[in-house]
Amino acid sequence: MENWLIKQSELVPYRTALVYEGKTWNFKQLKVVVHKTAGKLAKFAGRLGKRVAVIAGNTPASYFMVLALQQLGVQPVLLNCRLAFSEVERQREDADVSVVFVDDVLKKSFGGYVKKNAHYYLISELDAILPKEPSIIQSFKDEEVASVMYTSGTTGQPHGVLQTFRNHFFSAVGSAFNLGLNPNDQWLCAVPIFHISGLSIMMRSLIYGTSVVLVPHFDPVKITQILVSSPVSLMSVVPVMLKQLLNLYPSEGYNSFFRAFLLGGAPIDAVTLDRCKERGINVIQSYGLTETCSQIVALNFADAPSKIGSVGKPLFPVQVRIASKTGEIEVKAPNVVQGYLNDQVSFDDKLTQDGWFRTGDLGQFDDEGFLFIKGRKDEMFISGGENVFPNEIEAVYVKAAGIKGIAVIGIPDKVWGQVPYAFVEPETDFELDDAMLKLYGKKHLAHYKVPQKFIRVDQLPRTANGKLKHAEIRKNFLKNNNW
Ligand code: ATP
Repeated sequence: MENWLIKQSELVPYRTALVYEGKTWNFKQLKVVVHKTAGKLAKFAGRLGKRVAVIAGNTPASYFMVLALQQLGVQPVLLNCRLAFSEVERQREDADVSVVFVDDVLKKSFGGYVKKNAHYYLISELDAILPKEPSIIQSFKDEEVASVMYTSGTTGQPHGVLQTFRNHFFSAVGSAFNLGLNPNDQWLCAVPIFHISGLSIMMRSLIYGTSVVLVPHFDPVKITQILVSSPVSLMSVVPVMLKQLLNLYPSEGYNSFFRAFLLGGAPIDAVTLDRCKERGINVIQSYGLTETCSQIVALNFADAPSKIGSVGKPLFPVQVRIASKTGEIEVKAPNVVQGYLNDQVSFDDKLTQDGWFRTGDLGQFDDEGFLFIKGRKDEMFISGGENVFPNEIEAVYVKAAGIKGIAVIGIPDKVWGQVPYAFVEPETDFELDDAMLKLYGKKHLAHYKVPQKFIRVDQLPRTANGKLKHAEIRKNFLKNNNW
């Protein structure tokens, strides 16, 4: 395929490519500024190697840097800016990277290391460099790696996922066939560009020739203002974001071009989805992984209101199968990656004998072919011979008054094998009563699913995407209680 940035700068040069805090770049200007960044990177020529890491903020500087590396045929390694420096260093070494660019907005966390460590540079250090004529690649080859992104490691060690141009392309195709493509679409990106949710918005923009409205971080008040006053048509959200935006939803609604929130990344409760439906807000539930380069299953506009709780049907390029009624979700699609960096064995372990990717998530199809996520395979536990899905219990309890967040884990038990314990984040100033919580559970759940203990916590550990870290909660609890 022709280099996507060059292609769009020829096809739709004057269409807006990027909007950031009042500034805009059309595709022609985007190409110029990205190639200028690429030209400045010539200064690092001998040191860039196969991969360069970016500790990215949601800023034009990081945006241009990621695209510039792709233009040079260098693989950008997107590092999570919320990681501790030791974690960043482990990933840098794993990716065999000798140059790391740090977004200046992250100076506070990483500035010290930039000064001390020869591998780290602030992106602004490029300002003083005169660009040379960059050596731009003319075509994006299907099997070339377009981005490397580490899984968040909610289970096991983070793995560097090798996402190719083909993976991104088919991911974008699947999404477009589902949501439809409007040349005037503006996709608001408040999710981090170092995660696939954010990076895939950037890639879709290049593939579709549509605009990205980038925001530095998720500020629900500011974002509501943007959704009201700008022609944003789509926005990717994780459940916590949707809940906050819903609380601020204005009576006059969003701008008339607004089409939908694309929701994914973690389980959502039915109450929030019902509230969106009541207000007439389109929410397209979706399901995907870093290893599938974003969504593989999603609802469509027609089914979304009636299929609340489902994540939809496999997208056009995607095949999904589940061996038993409720079982592990397996996927085959051109957007499934081919491997992990330096650990092909772990990746191959996730493939079935006939080459389908095992997601590690449990799911169930209903009679009409809609997929329901039951939770992660490794979070499920057995109590008295019954399978218990923490996800299901959590979904029931988040509807209860006074509960802001809840994580359920299996704790060893002499009689039942394991029993559910709940870790509860109460709403501010709300006194939760254990007996009431048990009673509530008994009303809505089979008795073996009702948590035996409710442990209050100030804050549950979550990933950047708002996903609960069950393994961490369990490990800490067992350790602190000398289990
Ligand atoms: P790791 O793979 O290292 O444990 P991770 O789970 O955060 O990290 P990601 O690729 O960021 O990896 O997230 C993919 C996971 O997110 C899926 O496997 C699934 O568990 C969860 N997920 C994604 N979308 C949904 C959804 N709509 N509903 C429920 N869970 C979802």
